[in-house]
Amino acid sequence: MPLFLYSFRKDLPEALIQKAEKLKVRDLDTLPSGTKVAFAEEGKNDFDVSLDINAQGEIVASSCDCQSPQPFCHHKVALLLFLEKKKSGPKAGGKSKSPKREPTPAEMKMSELPEEELRMWLQKLFKKRKDLELEFLQAFSPVKTQFTYDEVRALSEEVIQSVVKSKTKKKMEMSEIRKILGFWKTAHAPVLEYYSENPAAEDHYRALEGLLISVIAFDWRIRNNTNKLQQYEIEVLEKAGTRISQIMDFSEWQKALMYFVRYAESNPGSVLRHLYLNFLWGLYNRATGERQRFLRSTGLFARLI
Ligand SMILES: [Zn+2]
Repeated sequence: MPLFLYSFRKDLPEALIQKAEKLKVRDLDTLPSGTKVAFAEEGKNDFDVSLDINAQGEIVASSCDCQSPQPFCHHKVALLLFLEKKKSGPKAGGKSKSPKREPTPAEMKMSELPEEELRMWLQKLFKKRKDLELEFLQAFSPVKTQFTYDEVRALSEEVIQSVVKSKTKKKMEMSEIRKILGFWKTAHAPVLEYYSENPAAEDHYRALEGLLISVIAFDWRIRNNTNKLQQYEIEVLEKAGTRISQIMDFSEWQKALMYFVRYAESNPGSVLRHLYLNFLWGLYNRATGERQRFLRSTGLFARLI
C-alpha cells in the first residue's frame, strides 16, 4: 500500500501513531539524494531513521535500525509526524514564507550538479527555447540606461524573434502575442525610464518613438484582431503624459510636447499621428491657461475645438 506524507494518518493504525507521538525527533537532515534522515529518541535509545519521499509526497523507501519486522515501525512514523508538522507549521503561523523551506527536488539536483553540466544543459535549452534565452539575458545583463531610436527598434524586434522564429509569419496565436507583450514590458521599462529622465531632450523622445513605432509595426504586420497592442501603446503614452504633466517650467513642457506636435504635423495619415492626436487632445483637456493656449495654437485639433 503506498503511503503519503499528507495522508499517512488515515492509512496507519491509530495505536501506531499514538506510540510514535510519544517519541522525540532530532537532528533532521536532508541528504543530497533527497533522503530525510533523523534520530528518533525512545527512552535512552536513539534510532536512526531514514525516509525517501518523492515529489508527490509518496514514501518510496525507508529504513530504521530498530530491526522491527513491521514495514513501518513507530520510529519511522515519528519522523513522518515531525515532517508533517514542519510542513504545516509555518502556514498555521501566518502568511509569511518560512525561511527554512525544504528545497525542491530540482533545487537539490542543482546543488549537486557540477557547474559545467548546468552550463551545457542551459545551452541546449536555449537552442530550443529562444524566449528563455532572452529572459536569461534580461535577468543577467547590466541594465542599459540609454537608448537610440534604432536600438529600441532592434531590441523590440529581438523580443518578437525570441517568441516566433519566422520573420514573415503573419498569423499569430494570442498566446504568442501575450508572451511578446510580457517580454516587451520588461525590455521597454528601462526605455521608458530613459524617456522620463528628460522628456524635453530629443534623444530621449526618439527612444520613446522607437518603442511606439515597434509596437505599431508589429501590430500592422500580424493582422490580428486583438486590441492588446493598441492598449499597450496607449499605456505607454499615458506614462509619458503623466511625466510631461509633472514638468513645472513652461518652456521645458513646451519642448517636450513639440516632438509629438511636429511628428503629427509631418506624418499625415500615419497610425502614430493618430495616437499622438488622441494623446495631445487628452493633455489639452487636462491643461489650463498658457498650456491650453499653446496646444490650441498648434492648430492640430482645430476641428475639435
Ligand atoms: Zn524503528
